[in-house]
Amino acid sequence: MQDEGKKPIGLERVKQWLYAKGLDQRSSGCVLCGSCYGHGPANPMEDVPGPKEKCPPYEFYKFQRHTPKSRWLMAQRVFHGLDPITPELKEVMYACTNCLMCQELCGVRGDGYGPWDITVAMREEITAKDGPMAVHRPIYDGLQQHDNPWAQPKAERGAWAQGLGLTKLSESKASTLLFAGCSADRASGRSGVIALAQLMQQAGEDFAILGDEEKCCGLYAFDLGFRREYERLKDDNLARLQHAGIKRVVVACGSCQRIWREYAKEAGAGFQVIHGVEYVEQLVQSGRLKFTKPVNKKVTYHDSCHLGRGCGVYAAPRNILRAIPGIQLVDGVPEADPALAEWNAADRMREAAETGAELMLTSSALCQRSFNELKSIGVPSQDLLEFAWQAL
Ligand code: SF4
Ligand code: SF4
Repeated sequence: MQDEGKKPIGLERVKQWLYAKGLDQRSSGCVLCGSCYGHGPANPMEDVPGPKEKCPPYEFYKFQRHTPKSRWLMAQRVFHGLDPITPELKEVMYACTNCLMCQELCGVRGDGYGPWDITVAMREEITAKDGPMAVHRPIYDGLQQHDNPWAQPKAERGAWAQGLGLTKLSESKASTLLFAGCSADRASGRSGVIALAQLMQQAGEDFAILGDEEKCCGLYAFDLGFRREYERLKDDNLARLQHAGIKRVVVACGSCQRIWREYAKEAGAGFQVIHGVEYVEQLVQSGRLKFTKPVNKKVTYHDSCHLGRGCGVYAAPRNILRAIPGIQLVDGVPEADPALAEWNAADRMREAAETGAELMLTSSALCQRSFNELKSIGVPSQDLLEFAWQAL
């Protein structure tokens, strides 16, 4: 169902990928090759799971209906009126952890869109018809009432910056904005943005923050299918930016970065979006930041799905670590299905432990929250920029 005068949402929004009536159109739809979940034509027996190429819900449940291609086909059948939206279909659509792997691996479309886009559109369809899933209702209400997925009171937004001597955009002029993100609202998720702000101050950067006027970027609204909420938050954030004449947004969270890049695509690239690790890498490469204190540790770095696959940022965090003397670098979704989310985080943690690392570094407060909840496996984790701060 579409509201009068509003942009299409749900399956209507992606209908060009779902029609597939003529043969020429079918070639741009799913061809069932299986590449999207690591079991493509080269491994049709599915007997050798790729170590990196895992669709978490499929690896966890081992049922074909939990593959990205099945989600695409289910959405197509709903779009054509062949199947209703059932509780089982909702369960499958919301088991996807938004890891973006299928999006990266599926080559059937040449326009950058893939199976995960269909899953998101199907979630929008579900929300438009039946409302948010009961388990996501608090997130939905939190966004509507507090502009925050965890319903943190608006007055507490920006508390992470207390005592740092930062400037608020509403009280000054600046061309660079540091966007903290909702994770910074919780004591457990603010170490990364604090370290980023300190590193920027140390390098003499001129920047401002939004403080208590900052709103959620809309990540959860986008990924869970609350399209109208996403559009509202995006419009509010963009209006504030454009009013203040911001030319560059430095984002502290990998997931916010993915969403801010969506904004930039739609807004016509009137401003640059860059993650804190990319920014700090530039400061290091230009000599404005220099790590002088050795940190003798064996560490590994965990690529967050949204900063890595979503934004292609892989080199910057590793380059920062290589600039710290003494470091030995070894490479190696929690709301709807806690058991799957825990299995997924534990699987990443096991891979980190196999490298022999003493510490796992991340650039995502959301990943760090998942890892911190795993007390039994044993590799401690820390935000990469918080770790780098000690080497100055
Ligand atoms: S979604 Fe893409 S990669 Fe997956 S089976 Fe279909 S065409 Fe192949
Ligand atoms: S984005 Fe979802 S469907 Fe795609 S690989 Fe990840 S969990 Fe599977």
